Formats: sequence, C-alpha cells, structure tokens
Amino acid sequence: MTKQGSLIIYSGPSGVGKGTILAPLLADESYRISLSVSATTRQPRPGEIDGVHYHFVTKENFLEMISQNEMLEFATYNQHYYGTPKKFVEQLLAQGRNVILEIEVQGAKLVKQRFPNAVMVFVMPPTFDDLRHRLEYRGTETKEQLEGRLNIALDEIKQAVDYDFVIVNNQLEEARTQLLTAVKISPALSRFNNNLIEEVLKDAKTRNE
Ligand code: 5GP
Repeated sequence: MTKQGSLIIYSGPSGVGKGTILAPLLADESYRISLSVSATTRQPRPGEIDGVHYHFVTKENFLEMISQNEMLEFATYNQHYYGTPKKFVEQLLAQGRNVILEIEVQGAKLVKQRFPNAVMVFVMPPTFDDLRHRLEYRGTETKEQLEGRLNIALDEIKQAVDYDFVIVNNQLEEARTQLLTAVKISPALSRFNNNLIEEVLKDAKTRNE
C-alpha cells in the first residue's frame, strides 16, 4: 500500500515571499511535493494563469462549489472568496505525494480541525516594515488594498504561535532549506507514529509473557 503523503498548511502574510521560497521545491520531483490550486473570486494579476495559479471563478460558481461540498475549506480575504477544492488534495495524498496548501489563517484552522495530522508552517517577514516594502515593490495593489493586506497581516502574525514551524524569510536559501526540512521531517512527528509506538510496546509485552 502507498504511504499517504504529508499535508502541509503553508501560511504567511501577503507579499512575504511564500511562492518564491516554494517554487524550486515544487520543480524538483524527488521531493514529491504538489501545490494545491485554490479557487478564488479575485481577479487574476498580470501573469497569473487560470488553472495554474488559481482557478479564477465567479462568486456564483464559488458558492455552488461550497453547496456541492467540493471545498475542503474556504475563507474570505480582503472581500474575496478563496477555497481549496477537496478532490485534488485527497487524490494526491493517497498517491503518497506531499501536498502544500498555501492558505490564510482562517482556512488553516479549518483544515487543522479536519486533518489534525497536518503540519503547519508559517512564513514571517524579518520586520513589519520589510513586509510593507515588499508589497509596495510588488505594486499589484492600490494603496487602499495594500493597507487592507497589511492590517490582515498583523492579525495573521498574531496567530503564527499556533503553527508547528515559523520560517523567517530573511535569507531565501535558508528559508527554503527550512521549509524542505519541515516537509521531510514531518513523518517523524510523534503524532504520526502512534501506531508504531503501540506496536513496539505490544511486541515487548508478548516477548515478556
Ligand atoms: P492572494 O490574493 O495574495 O493570492 O492571496 C491572498 C491570501 O489568500 C493569501 O494569504 C493566500 O495564502 C490565501 N489563500 C490562497 N488560496 C487560499 C485558499 O484556498 N483558502 C484559503 N483559506 N486561503 C487561501
């Protein structure tokens, strides 16, 4: 039987560099990492491709997916819906792939309730000012949207303490190594090994009898 892959919840404020850290890890097939493609009602940014970066859908389509129970989780963020289509994630995990959900903190909590074994990784900016500069430099938001994202970022950072790993995006390569290590080490977390622990104890007991 194929060993189920790890489910990795990957959060961090908008603009912190989650995608840049992750990209080469997705490209290296030896890591068996897949990124879940979310559905969203926000407009594509220049260069974003439907079905690759997101499934860009209307609000009606999104609500229909919820009512058909097709979403693993969903949340509203800056007045738009974002959600994780369930089927794709379940299929990939069953194939033994490590699946990354790049989602914000409300959705992260919902996934963690449904999949207590999920591993939670949060990407932090080195400073809040650094985050502001990154978002300004990206230049994809209006001033109002940018302030909205920074306000949400503050709330998100407060919740980083609930994550298993907090990675600071200061040195890109270092951050990347830490993310890969979190993925690789996840099967060794004690919560994944309850069956093994029980079996070894059972074995010891039978030998002593
Ligand atoms: P952006 O508009 O910058 O692509 O994404 C805004 C926020 O929504 C980011 O924090 C991103 O991680 C989060 N996000 C993207 N897809 C999903 C999803 O499927 N579910 C949830 N809950 N958040 C998502």
